[in-house]
Amino acid sequence: MAAASSSPSPAVTAATRLMDSHGRVIHDLRVSITDRCNYKCVYCRTGEHGAQYPELGIEEYLRLIRLFVSLGIEKVRLTGGEPLLRHGLLDLIRELAQLRTLRGEPLDLALTTNGHLLDSLAMPLKQAGLNRITVSMDAVDAPTFERITRIPGSFQKVLGGIRAARGAGLTPLKINCVLLRGFNDAEIEGFARFAREEDVIVRFIEFMPLEEGRLWTPDIVVPLNEIVERISRILPLRPLPPREASETARRYTFPDGIGEIGIIAPVTQAFCGACSRVRLTSDGKIRTCLFSQVEHDLYGRMRAGENDAELSAYITQTVYGKEARHHIGEPGFLKPSRSMVHIGG
Ligand code: SAM
Repeated sequence: MAAASSSPSPAVTAATRLMDSHGRVIHDLRVSITDRCNYKCVYCRTGEHGAQYPELGIEEYLRLIRLFVSLGIEKVRLTGGEPLLRHGLLDLIRELAQLRTLRGEPLDLALTTNGHLLDSLAMPLKQAGLNRITVSMDAVDAPTFERITRIPGSFQKVLGGIRAARGAGLTPLKINCVLLRGFNDAEIEGFARFAREEDVIVRFIEFMPLEEGRLWTPDIVVPLNEIVERISRILPLRPLPPREASETARRYTFPDGIGEIGIIAPVTQAFCGACSRVRLTSDGKIRTCLFSQVEHDLYGRMRAGENDAELSAYITQTVYGKEARHHIGEPGFLKPSRSMVHIGG
């Protein structure tokens, strides 16, 4: 995978829309605002380490995000670590809600959380201007859930958070579940019922080799086809058409249209060809792919005094060098130096 510095530079002007050398327009930015997390999910963290990277000030994230938006970013998703732990989150959302895209529209402003603190924060988040929220929840059975998070009482907290988010109008509400064979694959059918009962979109995600420890093998991944087949045995699934080319989830509903299931299959049915995303880590590094072997120190340049035009040129050039695709499961595949919790999922 080529580093941006070795890629040919595109013509850079202030009006350049972010595009990579493979012709993909990049309009989706994920920003990690902390790599601290209050959960120790067994498939993500070893539980031995805490945060490993510094956080920027809220004003600093804001300045960098504004630059990305001035280059064509239309969706911003705040993540972590656990973003609800981050002091100043509501101020950041209030400011981001004021930004306009190049088309003059408000940003699509979303957040991914484990939901532990959502019960009391759902309404303030909505009032600050957040549009949408995704809650991660890896089991609908409380003991299974708490074996995964390793936090007693976490299931009721997250369920309360989900209901508070729905009540606050942070809808449509998405629930993300990472499936691992032998850990929580018995939950598939329960999640299908949960989607209908709680009126939420449940999205199953194939497990990727991004954990702190060494758990990933091809066999632990529960593939898309198996998920569809198992749900269809209890309730037939009807495919829904994609809403946009860069949509990561294959979407399905049930014959009566109540409840939605999405399956995100980066391992067995990779969607890199339609990828529209880049990431900014909590310490201000650009990552052009989850599996990048190189990081691009945007914050370092900002701290060194580069002006907005220089930083914009750096962003444009870096994004131009975005990798064509990931290489999960191929001979010679290398895990990135950071795990998911430290990149920002
Ligand atoms: N703390 C927040 C949360 O729990 O949603 C945001 C950060 S978390 C790293 C973001 C998402 O990444 C979660 O849905 C989590 O389940 C998912 N995730 C973590 N490790 C993963 C992996 N190896 N493969 C696929 N998804 C993963």
